[in-house]
Amino acid sequence: MEILPTLMVNACPICSKEVVEVHRPFCSQRCANVDLSRWLGGNYRIPTDEGPTVYEGGLNGGEEDQG
Ligand SMILES: [Zn+2]
Repeated sequence: MEILPTLMVNACPICSKEVVEVHRPFCSQRCANVDLSRWLGGNYRIPTDEGPTVYEGGLNGGEEDQG
């Protein structure tokens, strides 16, 4: 039974080139920066539950019956 080399595993997620050890999991510092800029640039949008600010009902709390 032959053991296949794991070269395919070490592929840069940015450009699919061979990964360099010092830049793992990327092939170069440039690709690492590309990946980072994607996150900082907002390409990866994080969905939120925040919707438009809508108040149900009015601000009037109703009449308080005191006394
Ligand atoms: Zn790369």
